Amino acid sequence: MSTAFRFCPACATPLAMIAMQEDGGLTERLRCPSCGFTHWNNPTPVLAAIVELDGQILLARNAAWPTKMYGLITGFMEAGETPEEGIRREIGEETSLSVDALSLVAVHDFQRMNQVIITYHARAHGEVRLSPELVDYKLVPPAQVRCWRAGTGLALAQWLRQQGHEPVFLEDLVQKPAAGSADSAG
Ligand SMILES: [Zn+2]
Repeated sequence: MSTAFRFCPACATPLAMIAMQEDGGLTERLRCPSCGFTHWNNPTPVLAAIVELDGQILLARNAAWPTKMYGLITGFMEAGETPEEGIRREIGEETSLSVDALSLVAVHDFQRMNQVIITYHARAHGEVRLSPELVDYKLVPPAQVRCWRAGTGLALAQWLRQQGHEPVFLEDLVQKPAAGSADSAG
């Protein structure tokens, strides 16, 4: 059950968990007992990009993240745009880079955040200028990129395998921290 909504957005009646017959059987959902509004709590589509610039992968650190965490460029898909348009927009907004070519890498569930992550590989050019949302970035050769076992990290691992690099996961490096600056998370 989501705790994000307490009142009906249509009529402001307090929502309640109410069981109703659906195609899949009797299902309890957060509903409005007055007007019948249902909070479906469907996963939100998130777009992600493995941005390649001059043969290196751009990993960026969000202002809200711990110092050592770097991840892919991500953002929410907006109404009225295709996933491809959305990820081009996000890359432009967050890095100022222009995208030359896009290819879909993978679609993963990210249940902890109730999201579906659609990850693209993006070949880009230009000069990196970060949005205020991002505080730092680094360019890492593909062979030195470290993955993480969730969300975008799984897509990154899949792309590295396609490129002939066996992915190394941060979770496996707990005993012996990675040398250099290739650790990533997000
Ligand atoms: Zn209502």
